[in-house]
Amino acid sequence: MRYGRQTAPDPGTTHPADDYPCRFCALESGTCCRTDPKLADLIFPLSRPEGARLEEYGQNPGAFRAVRRNTPEFVQSVQALFPGEKARIKELFPDGGEHFSLALRNDGACAFLGNFGCVLPRARRPWYCLLFPVWVINHSLTLFSADNCLIVRRSGNPARAVDLMGESVAGIRRLFACLRRDWGFE
Ligand code: SF4
Repeated sequence: MRYGRQTAPDPGTTHPADDYPCRFCALESGTCCRTDPKLADLIFPLSRPEGARLEEYGQNPGAFRAVRRNTPEFVQSVQALFPGEKARIKELFPDGGEHFSLALRNDGACAFLGNFGCVLPRARRPWYCLLFPVWVINHSLTLFSADNCLIVRRSGNPARAVDLMGESVAGIRRLFACLRRDWGFE
């Protein structure tokens, strides 16, 4: 597995499975990189280290990220991702505060979504993008409910999904640890 332990990956590294089946998803379905613009406030937050990685890559500094309010619905959606950590999440995303997230185009597509999927090298992408559709709850791998995700449809279970992503269980755990670190949990 190419990711270093708890460190940001080499920006020049490309993934061996580079984006299969996500490329097909971009052609065949809505992809996880597009949302209803009315739900933009609910998309996952972007930490400063993740933003810095994009900043180094982007030709339009700052254009890739949006400032969004910590709405109660947003905070609840983050709390649902981390059961048992409600208090910490309230500290990280206080009422009345703001956070960064990826900028969306008018149609709800991520600013980095191209015709064949994400235009970013994998090593530049936010941790959440690298993990999706797998997540870790109480140390166990789980799959998001995402009917339009080809990996979810073709795998049916987290272990098979990890295979389809070209990842390993240990690699997923490292990515999740990086996300927790950069989002401020550790
Ligand atoms: S950064 Fe790339 S993988 Fe993440 S949501 Fe945007 S287009 Fe999709």
